[in-house]
Amino acid sequence: MDLKLYDTLAREKRTFVPIDPAAVRMYVCGPTVYDFAHIGNARPVIVFDLLFRLLRQLYGAEHVRYVRNITDVDDKINARAAERGISIRELTEKTYGEFAADVAALGCLPPTVEPRATEHIAEMTALIEKLVAAGHAYVEQDHVLFGVPSMTDYGALSKRPLDEMIAGARVDVAPYKRDPMDFVLWKPAKPGEPGWPSPCGIAVPGRPGWHIECSAMSWKHLGETFDIHGGGIDLVFPHHENEIAQSRCAFGAPAMANYWMHNGFLQVEGEKMSKSLGNFVTIRDVLKDWPGDVVRLNMLRTHYRQPIDWTVKGLEESEKVLSSFFDVASSEAEPRPAPAVLEALCDDLNTPAAIAAMHGLKNAAGRKALAGTLAFFGFRREALADWRTAHAPAPPIPVEEIERRIATRIDARKAKDWAESDRIRDELAALGIVLKDSKDGTTWEVAR
Ligand code: AMP
Ligand code: ZN
Repeated sequence: MDLKLYDTLAREKRTFVPIDPAAVRMYVCGPTVYDFAHIGNARPVIVFDLLFRLLRQLYGAEHVRYVRNITDVDDKINARAAERGISIRELTEKTYGEFAADVAALGCLPPTVEPRATEHIAEMTALIEKLVAAGHAYVEQDHVLFGVPSMTDYGALSKRPLDEMIAGARVDVAPYKRDPMDFVLWKPAKPGEPGWPSPCGIAVPGRPGWHIECSAMSWKHLGETFDIHGGGIDLVFPHHENEIAQSRCAFGAPAMANYWMHNGFLQVEGEKMSKSLGNFVTIRDVLKDWPGDVVRLNMLRTHYRQPIDWTVKGLEESEKVLSSFFDVASSEAEPRPAPAVLEALCDDLNTPAAIAAMHGLKNAAGRKALAGTLAFFGFRREALADWRTAHAPAPPIPVEEIERRIATRIDARKAKDWAESDRIRDELAALGIVLKDSKDGTTWEVAR
């Protein structure tokens, strides 16, 4: 089956053709590890985890390589470590550990490689040297800058007029820049900041700019040109535009990645959730109230390119939907999407259509396919069941009384007294207690 993906660069859906089907390669910009991630940051993680699973399904698990970096050099990291009086390494280790635990709770597989910026300084300085040698970058006042006018087709990804780009990037007109659009590849480290030996004969220690980190790490782990590059829509400009400029100009390559994919924003009352606006909730906090699988389904009920408004009502609905799937699905199955689900996902990850197809499997004939589909998505029955037990409302009559009535009903059924059996069931239902009969016996729960 053909996989179609919306490519931000082409502004259209394109049939996915990997460079090498035996080694499909995807890079996604990962977290800057200075504090707990918010639920908006979870969106690209969940969306690209689903794409990772889909690619593994289509090409075989061992033929897909997914790289998601860890940005552990950043002003915010330095400031936070100083504030807490701990070392930068201690802060980034701890924050990364929290992030990994959060996204695991959301049912995401670990990527194939999670490279750290601080472990790829050599690749960054090598790239910078290449760019200077090729005339695309220059040294000025201990900085190295990418000269934007040296690249004739700069701006193809964001397709914005130059003046808008300048405003959007809040480009500062610094004395070391030849053109206001030029961006930093390397800068001197301030006293007390982490620094490394600088490239291009610069005498003082320095540190990389943000964009060069991703060009260096994708190069090291995926090569000069790879298949898919992803991230949130806010990264299109300047981050991805600058990654493209660096990688293409360093390697003289026509493309850095062949498909550029961007998720839409997760919003709160119509505004992007962000640290700077202060309208955020951390993944940690959401997981205190909701199982990770419900959060995951809630994210996927909206197509990844559309904005999502994050609401408690949405989570409540998602819990009901997921429970309704597990109530019908058989208990075990190989992870495999049902054909209609696979077809929907191959249409640019159309998750709303995939979930609609899952509703169509809620019948005796679909139980097995539904179970396989749930496993493919990474949904786990136990986590949801535990949550439902912990959050079940208290029954209106004592548990012993409920169990006594169920026992009476079992006796009635043995005596084939169906009228009595139904009477007891209806009586309990009127109290909001729902009985479920299966081959293993009768269970009950309080209706919500
Ligand atoms: P940051 O830590 O801000 O660099 O973000 C890490 C990732 O989360 C990037 O791919 C961002 O595009 C993405 N992201 C940040 N905020 C949101 C949001 N409100 N909705 C969706 N994605 C977001
Ligand atoms: Zn990046």
